[in-house]
Amino acid sequence: MDTNNHYEAIVIGAGPAGLTAGIYLSRARVRTLILSEGTVGGQMILTHEIANYPGVENISGYQLSMIMRNQAKKFGCDIKSNIQVETMMLEGEVKAVTLADGTKYTADAVILSPGGRSRKLGVPGEEALKGKGISYCATCDGDFFTDKEIIVVGGGNSALEEAVSLTKYASKVTIVHQFDHFQAFEYAVEEARSHPKVSFIMESAISAFHGNEKLAGVEIMDLKTGNKLNYAIDGVFIFIGYVPNTEFLEGKLELNKWKEIIVNTDMQTSLEGVYAAGDSTAKRYRQVTTAVADGTIAALAISKYIHELHKNKSLQNA
Ligand SMILES: Cc1cc2nc3c(=O)[nH]c(=O)nc-3n(C[C@H](O)[C@H](O)[C@H](O)COP(=O)(O)OP(=O)(O)OC[C@H]3O[C@@H](n4cnc5c(N)ncnc54)[C@H](O)[C@@H]3O)c2cc1C
Repeated sequence: MDTNNHYEAIVIGAGPAGLTAGIYLSRARVRTLILSEGTVGGQMILTHEIANYPGVENISGYQLSMIMRNQAKKFGCDIKSNIQVETMMLEGEVKAVTLADGTKYTADAVILSPGGRSRKLGVPGEEALKGKGISYCATCDGDFFTDKEIIVVGGGNSALEEAVSLTKYASKVTIVHQFDHFQAFEYAVEEARSHPKVSFIMESAISAFHGNEKLAGVEIMDLKTGNKLNYAIDGVFIFIGYVPNTEFLEGKLELNKWKEIIVNTDMQTSLEGVYAAGDSTAKRYRQVTTAVADGTIAALAISKYIHELHKNKSLQNA
């Protein structure tokens, strides 16, 4: 084993869950490396303002990310971002991660925090106008659309519940759904149907987004006739599902049917010495605060696990 490349803990992903784990582990003097395929901060850097992180007002996602990164580094955590993980060996006493450039790291324990992504519509203009009028998070961005007209896309519980919650801000909410019925529970459908600010465009889909610096309008296609109409709109919220970044873990540990990592209350996965935290785990609410809480729990549990590991090894060697 190359001792320079051996860490007590390796954290996969540098979003709020991974960075928090890095802060707690390093502060507990656990030699820790964070490896992240994306930029440090994860999904936080996609949002221009995080208004609901307790204790911090008027902060951009980028600024909050940099504070968390600096905090982790200050305690001695190594962070390598924009890398590509090639292979991962999670079973057995020594875990191993090999990068695309051939560098191999080993660890006594691993925290998986690869986060996730909202399912996209995949239509023209969506990528360019993401965060500029197109949102995937009502809790995060609803306030920016106070007294404005918005569209909500989707027909499940999230879409209908979030559409009603967005009426706190928006002057009008139009739900665009591809079928003539909803997949949501009846109570959610009833609540949306009876709300005076909510209206519906059924059996239709957004086929394009328009706008340069910010969203100006959408093209909506009637799925029965194929006719397309353009609408001016201030905001569009898309709730058509969520995809955890766990493709690389399939077959390696227990995932649920939505490919989310199954963890216990200590954030331990089905494998010994492997913990998980944040949006990639099986849970209902996905926010910076919940990711940070998960990262804390995983780090504390892993610190204890590593302590026990060292104790057992020294007993064996005695
Ligand atoms: C547009 C937008 C706005 C939001 N606004 C808010 C808000 O205002 N308030 C709020 O509380 N929440 C907000 N959220 C939600 C919040 O950002 C997430 O809940 C949170 O970032 C999840 O943290 P995480 O650490 O679990 O994962 P992520 O933030 O997704 O970070 C995961 C990291 O892991 C990396 N990674 C992925 N796969 C691999 C791999 N195989 N190997 C190595 N690294 C990998 C990724 O590149 C990424 O850097 C918003 C989300 C979005 C998309």
